[in-house]
Amino acid sequence: MVLPRNRSRSAKRVFKRTPTGRNVLHYKKRRLRMPLCRLCGAGLGGVNNSRRASKSEKVPTRIFAGQICAGCTAEIVKMKSRVALGEMKLEDASMAQREFIKMLK
Ligand SMILES: [Zn+2]
Repeated sequence: MVLPRNRSRSAKRVFKRTPTGRNVLHYKKRRLRMPLCRLCGAGLGGVNNSRRASKSEKVPTRIFAGQICAGCTAEIVKMKSRVALGEMKLEDASMAQREFIKMLK
């Protein structure tokens, strides 16, 4: 019987052939991928995606941390103030950027 933890698809199934020629199924943990910025696709800094790290160790405390990079965050904050001052329309920002601009108060 398969162990309960291996029944979900979060466990990768790997077919192995033993030296005796028998085919067996091994279960491996899937590799965690590096978290990427949702706007520009760059790798996020300061993010620890280790399974052993606690929540506060995983993500910086900056706004939108773990979702968008520091450069894109600065751009979003600038756009938000420009929209508030009427120097720029919300429609001038891309769809992805608008989502974050609306999240700022
Ligand atoms: Zn970015």
